[in-house]
Amino acid sequence: MLTTLIYRSQSDEVWTPQALTALTERASQKNNAQTVTGILLFNGQSFFQVLEGQESVIDTLFSVISQDPRHYNVVELMRDYTAVRRFENTGMRLFDLRIHDTGTVTSEIRRIGSFREGVAPEDRMYRFTADFITQGNRYLLPNRFHSSRWAIASREYTFPYSPHVAQQEPPCQFALQPIVDPLAGEVVSFEALIRSPSGGSPETLFSSIPEDQHYTFDLESKAQALMLIDSVKMGVRTLSVNLLPGTLYSVSGAVDYLLTLLRKNNLQPEQLIIEVTEAEVITEVDEFYEVLKKIRVAGIGLAIDDFGSGYSGLSLLTKFQPDRIKIDIALVRDIHKSGAKQAIVMSVIQCCEELKITIIAEGVETLEEWCWLQAAGIRLFQGFLFAHPQLQRDSPGMINWPVKIPFTP
Ligand code: C2E
Ligand code: MN
Ligand code: MN
Repeated sequence: MLTTLIYRSQSDEVWTPQALTALTERASQKNNAQTVTGILLFNGQSFFQVLEGQESVIDTLFSVISQDPRHYNVVELMRDYTAVRRFENTGMRLFDLRIHDTGTVTSEIRRIGSFREGVAPEDRMYRFTADFITQGNRYLLPNRFHSSRWAIASREYTFPYSPHVAQQEPPCQFALQPIVDPLAGEVVSFEALIRSPSGGSPETLFSSIPEDQHYTFDLESKAQALMLIDSVKMGVRTLSVNLLPGTLYSVSGAVDYLLTLLRKNNLQPEQLIIEVTEAEVITEVDEFYEVLKKIRVAGIGLAIDDFGSGYSGLSLLTKFQPDRIKIDIALVRDIHKSGAKQAIVMSVIQCCEELKITIIAEGVETLEEWCWLQAAGIRLFQGFLFAHPQLQRDSPGMINWPVKIPFTP
């Protein structure tokens, strides 16, 4: 299948026009042999390339390009399937924007490319290209957020587990995963994640319970979660718990039950945050909003979990605005490589800025992901990069902090 792939990247190397021409010529020989066509643009700091060819050829080529040490921050902007090549007859043309002015380059690309007459302004490939020509450095990653400038330092951390958890055979236990502000070096919250008595996943645990008891079990399990917490060690930090929307609207008195638990464990309502996942289908919409009001009136916090994973997040936002939004793991994964994920997350950041909602990026596993998200303006993070969920028996707890590597010229 004929495929078009567009990427941009950054380079700190000194590319003389001659070196760039030589590079393109060497690449062209290989490209011609594999009938890869396209254009390569360079503006002094950033590359932009359109690759056209058979899907498997393009895939292989792009993975080689991505690993080339002469550039970094390689971001895939577009991958599409097409009936015709735009650069059928011109091989792989190089445009050095340091030498040619933007007007000349734009009209030359329109001339050599088979853009349908009048259609170019709506052609995505053309628009990406025009954008790079006029503002190609818009997305440069700031120097201090290059992942190569950061390392991880593991430090012991006392998780706020209560020293005496007495119950003989608890039906479940909870692992705590910290939510951190890495630049401040602070833990701001913990999320309590349910586990079976033997440490099994939430899925395993819930599947061992009859379906008609899920909601009551979900609610009552929180007695165990709050009992685990030592309010003194907690300080002003908050505790997030997950509740199914159904638990909130179909177990009567759910909010009062939670308030009683908080009082019993010397925690303030403001210290509890209820996470409801966007992915869960909400059947009783009116009842759900009634409970949300009760939660707010009780002083308890609210978060939309897995934002961007389902279909209801945006419409939920139009009806109520939570204190926090947790960006779904799938959007975070490899965000530094995906133009589409970056565009979506940037719009979520802007939306949350307008609505004064705090964003948490969850599921962060690599320094590259963290660097991109931190540079984009996100402050709070949760993920294996910083800490895995830890059970009481795992003490002492550990947290990994990103530390800046001293700059050596
Ligand atoms: P969640 O609320 O979105 O919790 C985050 C999940 O992502 C957790 O999985 C956590 O272990 C995992 N995680 C955290 N950092 C990373 C990372 O860097 N990479 C990857 N791949 N995963 C990461 P867990 O503990 O298995 O929980 C799965 C889901 O089960 C939770 O997703 C939540 O929706 C649900 N759950 C957990 N506890 C409860 C509960 O008490 N009640 C209900 N109804 N659901 C719960
Ligand atoms: Mn959650
Ligand atoms: Mn989540």
